[in-house]
Amino acid sequence: MPRRNQLVPMDEVDVIILGSGAAGMAAALAAHEAGAKVALVERFDRIGGTSAISGGVIWVPNNPAMQRAGMADSREDALAYFRALDHGDLVDETLEAFVDRGPEALEFLESIGALSVSLLEGYPDYYLDREGAKPAGGRALDHDLFALGELDEWANRIFAIEEPKPMMLRETSLGGGTGVVEPEEMARRMATNERGFGQAMVARLLKACLDRGIEPMLGVETRELIREDGRIVGISGARNGDKFELRARRGVIISTGGFEWDKDKRQTFLRGPMDAPAPPPTARGEGLSLAMAGGAKLGNMTQAWWAPTLVVPDTPWENGSDRAMPVLIERTVPHSIMVNSKAERFCNEAANYSALAGAFHAFDPQTYDYPNLPAWLIFDENYVDRYPIGPRLPGQPVPDWVKRAETLEQLASKLGLEPDALTATVDRFNMHAEAGEDPDFQRGTSAYDHFYGDRSRKGTAVTLGSIARAPFYAVEIKMGLLGTNGGARTDGRALILGHDDQPIGGLFGAGNAIACPTGGIYAGAGGTLGPALTFGYIAGRSAARRDND
Ligand SMILES: Cc1cc2nc3c(=O)[nH]c(=O)nc-3n(C[C@H](O)[C@H](O)[C@H](O)COP(=O)(O)OP(=O)(O)OC[C@H]3O[C@@H](n4cnc5c(N)ncnc54)[C@H](O)[C@@H]3O)c2cc1C
Repeated sequence: MPRRNQLVPMDEVDVIILGSGAAGMAAALAAHEAGAKVALVERFDRIGGTSAISGGVIWVPNNPAMQRAGMADSREDALAYFRALDHGDLVDETLEAFVDRGPEALEFLESIGALSVSLLEGYPDYYLDREGAKPAGGRALDHDLFALGELDEWANRIFAIEEPKPMMLRETSLGGGTGVVEPEEMARRMATNERGFGQAMVARLLKACLDRGIEPMLGVETRELIREDGRIVGISGARNGDKFELRARRGVIISTGGFEWDKDKRQTFLRGPMDAPAPPPTARGEGLSLAMAGGAKLGNMTQAWWAPTLVVPDTPWENGSDRAMPVLIERTVPHSIMVNSKAERFCNEAANYSALAGAFHAFDPQTYDYPNLPAWLIFDENYVDRYPIGPRLPGQPVPDWVKRAETLEQLASKLGLEPDALTATVDRFNMHAEAGEDPDFQRGTSAYDHFYGDRSRKGTAVTLGSIARAPFYAVEIKMGLLGTNGGARTDGRALILGHDDQPIGGLFGAGNAIACPTGGIYAGAGGTLGPALTFGYIAGRSAARRDND
């Protein structure tokens, strides 16, 4: 056995946490507060992974903010809601652990200053026709601003922190706000470097770690889990090319995010095409490989937190990979539709992003093809005047990468679509939009469609509006995701299970690296970070207490 060395600033701790995203930092804090000496190990030279570029919205039923506001919710409502959405993926033990311990996790993080959240007023759950759903919201939470100065030089270590998000999500149209912050207030925020969204979440978690002496170790490549007598007792790997070994008396927590940037794994596991992931290329499934090598049983592998995305040219990630943005507002506001390769609409464009993947993944046995890929967002000059497209805001010039033509027929030709088919589709949509209805796909009938629509308009006009004013425009909409959500199966203590359904001693998991406790169900805004923080918290506590044999 090679001699251990000091490439990492310690050679034995109680708990090792792999990954410094939301799940990993929640785990580190929970383990530390339960009395453990922890090592927070990060593969790259930046902290926060996908969590740092996210909206940061956290969905937890019956959460402390709801309780403070006197909003009714219960374990029974939450479980009924999930069970009404279940297609056989849910496992009672982990689902119940999330529902039962989510509020406790948030209360813990708030109590130690690692979280400061407020209700996203009126943000409805995504499936309002199901028992236990909350149409008036309450389960989705937004971060209060955080001043980066509190982190000193560590602030620059947060992933993509150089792209400032000086607003809270609840102030933007994404969170039901006006999108306007008074110029003096914005100037103040810029001067104090205050951030919202996932940047506030990751910054606050990091501050709480640093305050407790938990300094993330960056650039550490874990190659193997060390196993002794059937238990996982540490990791071995390399830092700056030199080998090291780090031992953990109580356990190792895998919280390394999803596998969307590992082409092999996504082709092997995901149920359908996915070629434009929105997360940064840190989500390479390395934790999944470690868990598999450790004998983990897998779950939920075909699922993901799906989202239609738009690849914005000329803005690649540092390693040159394409960068994709989730497309949400663009397909919900008036004066736009999505069409497929037959120039036909194929879904309620305003439907929730994760469920919408079902339409993109439809397979035609006749043609042996995916007829709704590629898809195009078609919009007109009325749209361009009022609404954003990717990073381009209203009033700014329309970028070159947006296709443009004076007539719909010309636009169709540019896209390789049948011109008559596109005009017929648009004519039919326009006729119905003017009547305020969408008999084809019921766009505009649910509270969800209204939330992201143009709320300055009334009724179904928040989302329905004709495509009639030249010039006409199009961008390709790809099938992407906000993260994969399959991985190692755990029990309710976040202990990773082996093929025999027995816990692998000393090995825990949380976040997108595990089979999500809510299966593939994106229950409401924040439906990925709620389970990630909760299972991070559970994993940290379980590991620290050696609640694992
Ligand atoms: C644009 C966008 C917006 C989103 N908005 C929301 C939202 O508002 N609400 C919501 O619920 N979800 C949202 N999501 C999804 C959400 O961000 C992710 O599901 C969540 O951040 C995953 O957290 P995690 O801790 O599991 O992984 P991550 O945040 O990705 O963290 C994993 C960390 O592990 C590190 N790592 C990787 N491999 C290794 C290794 N081998 N060893 C050590 N470290 C490693 C990574 O570098 C990273 O720092 C959004 C996603 C995107 C892309």
